[in-house]
Amino acid sequence: MATTLTPVLTDRWANERSWTLDAYRKAGGYEALRSALAMAPGDVLTAVKDSGLRGRGGAGFPTGMKWGFLPAPDGGPRYLVVNADESEPGTCKDIPLMMADPHLLVEGAIITSYAIGCHHAFIYVRGEVLHVYRRLLAAVAEAREAGLLGSDILGSGYDLELTVHAGAGAYICGEETALLDSLEGRRGQPRLKPPFPAVAGLYGRPTVINNVETIASVPSIVANGADWFRSMGTERSAGFGIFSLSGHVARPGQYEAPLGITLRELLEMAGGMREGHELKFWTPGGSSTPIFTAEHLDVPLDYESVGAAGSMLGTRALQIFDETTCVVRAVARWTDFYAHESCGKCTPCREGTFWMKGIYQRLESGQGTAEDLETLLDVCDNILGRAFCALGDGATSPVTSSLQHFRAEYEAHVTGGGCPFDPVAAARFE
Ligand code: NAD
Repeated sequence: MATTLTPVLTDRWANERSWTLDAYRKAGGYEALRSALAMAPGDVLTAVKDSGLRGRGGAGFPTGMKWGFLPAPDGGPRYLVVNADESEPGTCKDIPLMMADPHLLVEGAIITSYAIGCHHAFIYVRGEVLHVYRRLLAAVAEAREAGLLGSDILGSGYDLELTVHAGAGAYICGEETALLDSLEGRRGQPRLKPPFPAVAGLYGRPTVINNVETIASVPSIVANGADWFRSMGTERSAGFGIFSLSGHVARPGQYEAPLGITLRELLEMAGGMREGHELKFWTPGGSSTPIFTAEHLDVPLDYESVGAAGSMLGTRALQIFDETTCVVRAVARWTDFYAHESCGKCTPCREGTFWMKGIYQRLESGQGTAEDLETLLDVCDNILGRAFCALGDGATSPVTSSLQHFRAEYEAHVTGGGCPFDPVAAARFE
């Protein structure tokens, strides 16, 4: 169960049968939709713009501004696509949200669709999480039965279809344009941007793509107003979000808090590090964000402060590692993941992740050389800013940052002929 300082997104998770329409309505659900439908669509958009809500999928792009990029209506369709393809290593916020409170997402999707003039919205959910897919299908069916979807929603004259689509389990399909290709029935690979989806998205039509948590934040903004939202978080990183703590903490899980909270404060809520151990390194926002160390315990977790400290807020997936973890092993594991998930469309990412994986295998098996460490940095240099999408850049983050903070540990793998944390190899270090 989630622990919360800002009870909004996770507030209903502990309620009995929280995922049902009945439970959601008893807790005030769909009242924001009623209010939104009584407003002009443009006023809903203005409220979201004024709230300062930024995309919760990782990039933090201003949500209202993204909606505002849609061209003026031309009589053709425009779409909302909810990105529910959560797959960034360590990220586990959208899936529990959809399991515990799917109607919050459905309500957010209806309000957003109304605001942007969309009559057919999609939720693209990753294929491996069949239980989430089923839960969403059930929620959509319940909403339709109750007149919250379909034609003339709540007697307002507004019509909306909402389709839940399950992907096939590829990390790349979380990249918004690869997601669109996949949704259109093609192999998921990123498209060249611009044009951004706002201009030419699904089936070439204007499309808003937002993360689950972003859309789930919308009902509360409509219900309580932009000033209420801005009263939480920091000036440029307004509001709240779900921080997922995993790894060597006493109580891993989801912690909802205002943006700007620190890891030190989150660790207090999570019961601290596991007993008898101390923090060695952590990711502020999934494995695609440069790692932090114990020095960064007091960095406010908002977009600006994390950026100024050399990383990115990303998906707020805080993977916590104590002193028993070999940083080279951890980064090797992530690099394996990126090499496996690279879609192969662009050379820097396809070849670069392959070469990095090979170097990590050498380092781990005691075959690494001092030159390998320079080659790792060189490969990263040739991926960064040259890959087709964010996957390539993301793959370099843990490599360069771990070399920056823990170079001596890499060197020990070279000079000691393997991993000092591996009991067999460790014997060679004595
Ligand atoms: P991005 O900064 O390129 O774009 C962010 C959003 O803003 C996109 O929707 C994009 O279309 C829109 N946008 C940006 N500039 C625009 C413009 N000029 N006009 C119109 N729209 C514009 O980032 P991205 O590649 O979409 O995402 C990268 C992030 O994804 C990383 O920071 C990472 O944290 C995150 N990520 C998340 C997961 C997950 O499971 N949630 C997985 C991998 C990566």
